Amino acid sequence: QSVDIGQFLHEVIDRFEMIAQNKHITFIRKISSKPTYVKIATDKMTQVIDNIISNAMKYSPEGGNVTIALLQQGEKLQISIADQGMGIPRESQTKIFERFYRVDKARARSVGGTGLGLAIAKELIHAHQGEIWAESEYGKGTTIFFTLPAMQEEDNQ
Ligand code: ATP
Ligand code: MG
Repeated sequence: QSVDIGQFLHEVIDRFEMIAQNKHITFIRKISSKPTYVKIATDKMTQVIDNIISNAMKYSPEGGNVTIALLQQGEKLQISIADQGMGIPRESQTKIFERFYRVDKARARSVGGTGLGLAIAKELIHAHQGEIWAESEYGKGTTIFFTLPAMQEEDNQ
């Protein structure tokens, strides 16, 4: 399907607002209102963004901000989800995309999950010709970035 990615992001974030309020987490949306179309399977993309946003909330203390930004860089769209949580040590920043990998087993056990969310996200983003990566400062916060090819004019014909 061709989807306005900005509108799609708003809809996903809207669904999390209630849960976020309970945890006193504030979503900051840096999403331009100019329509930007991508070809995506919405159910799969929902799964990707749901996991990244729920991670941002799960691994953040109460009262933090989660910033979701959409940026167009030529033929690519870049989406980022930034939190002010516990962060990820440098040596784990690529491993979190592996199946069943969870940083700090003891700590992770107290927060529900299987360690599959980001491995699935990576697979789905690659299937959409995109890239996904993490930038994080341990103790300060994490940003997950991913890209998707922007739809070109000729794709509409
Ligand atoms: P699941 O998503 O399957 O419910 P999960 O959240 O543990 O379980 P992933 O989403 O794949 O699994 O994340 C893997 C690990 O990466 C997490 O267990 C956590 O240790 C770390 N991680 C992911 N996102 C963040 C984040 N925003 N801040 C800190 N650590 C994170
Ligand atoms: Mg997860």
